[in-house]
Amino acid sequence: MKEKKPINDIRFTESSRRNFLQVAILGGGAFLIAPMLHIDIANATGSTDALLLSCMDFRLMDNIEHYMTERGLRDKYDHIVLAGAALGAITDKYPAWNKTFWDHVNLAVDLHHIHKIIVMDHRDCGAYRVILGEDFAKDPVKEKNIHSEKLRALAELIKIQHPNLEVELLLMGLDGKVESIT
Ligand SMILES: [Zn+2]
Repeated sequence: MKEKKPINDIRFTESSRRNFLQVAILGGGAFLIAPMLHIDIANATGSTDALLLSCMDFRLMDNIEHYMTERGLRDKYDHIVLAGAALGAITDKYPAWNKTFWDHVNLAVDLHHIHKIIVMDHRDCGAYRVILGEDFAKDPVKEKNIHSEKLRALAELIKIQHPNLEVELLLMGLDGKVESIT
């Protein structure tokens, strides 16, 4: 390559990174790379209000979609999925998940200019059981307390990292009903 263009990592997606490597390996020039970057930047524009962090639990995906639709947010939120939601973002057991969460929050802020993070835990969460070694679902009050503790801990960290972001904390039941955690 005759000329190396500065590459903004934030706007450089995994697929274009792969393409970049392929082109680089094949000996392609910057003239091939520039149009790809242009396309990526064009696709990355646009804003949305919210980012949702939820658990991966397959039982609740339709409930989550339904809940967000009811709030008028269908197709209007970024979505990070981590087992355990709030716990997944802060647990010492899976530091890579913590990093993944913050990387995605930073991307959502930079690319989509979000104003709010909605963190939604859910009851009977297998990740809470596995990571914390206790079946909290047996005691709904205790279960709400442990989720509240982890949700608030994450909210504090978000406020430190991104003081301008609003944070909303939620707990969904297996019936899809959602409680607000303050
Ligand atoms: Zn879960």
